[in-house]
Amino acid sequence: MKVFVTNDDSINSDGLWAAVQALVGIAEVVVAAPDRDQSGVGTSVSLTRPVRATEVTPQVAGVKAYSIEGTPADCTILALEKLFGSADLVVSGINKGANLGEDVLISGTVGGALQGYTRDIPSIAISVASLKAARFDAAGRLLRRLAEQIVAGVLSGPVFLNVNLPAIEPGKIEGIEITRLASRAYTDKVTEGDDGRRPYYWIARSRPESKFDVGTDAWAVRNNRVSITPLHTDMTNISKLPVLEELSLLLSESLKGTS
Ligand code: MN
Repeated sequence: MKVFVTNDDSINSDGLWAAVQALVGIAEVVVAAPDRDQSGVGTSVSLTRPVRATEVTPQVAGVKAYSIEGTPADCTILALEKLFGSADLVVSGINKGANLGEDVLISGTVGGALQGYTRDIPSIAISVASLKAARFDAAGRLLRRLAEQIVAGVLSGPVFLNVNLPAIEPGKIEGIEITRLASRAYTDKVTEGDDGRRPYYWIARSRPESKFDVGTDAWAVRNNRVSITPLHTDMTNISKLPVLEELSLLLSESLKGTS
């Protein structure tokens, strides 16, 4: 079994190597991760500049690892298409900071895993809900068990899982919830500053005041549980199709340029 590991926190992140350490006992592990923090770049792919890869000394012995001047999606594309060939599993993480609700769309962690999923490779994005003194032991153990089960074929068909652990001691975690995405797990906070040249802005994320719906990923993590959300990429809003079909008749008229 070959597992490819990437992340968005950079090749030097503790969480990345915790994932590698958790997996080396059960698989050949190969690594390609961004050379710097790429949190928040989402699914971005570098199409307008070259992407350089440098082989680096791994923090876990015997693992081939590359530092990539690019996004998490770049890393996965490069790894699977060029550096290592295909893999049986793609893992992105372990990220410092939760990736919940609609924020999966801007998550570089999820963006790295997406490129595995779209190549029909089972893919896992995994995060712990702490930006500071994050611990990865429980996440590592869970990842290892999950990886074993996925590669054994327990989940048939395409697999794209978003896993989030609460930032608490492992003994205090109150179980695992299989969840759906919350709508809005964060709000944007914009702070204005002035460096004496031009005003600038910092965009930061903060949690909204509102309570989360029961059964959502943000609800689970807030209630000290691990959240596992199965994702897919069909963003089509089926409920809007009929009314848009009707509207399209009207819109078609506008194409003719008569009104
Ligand atoms: Mn990150």
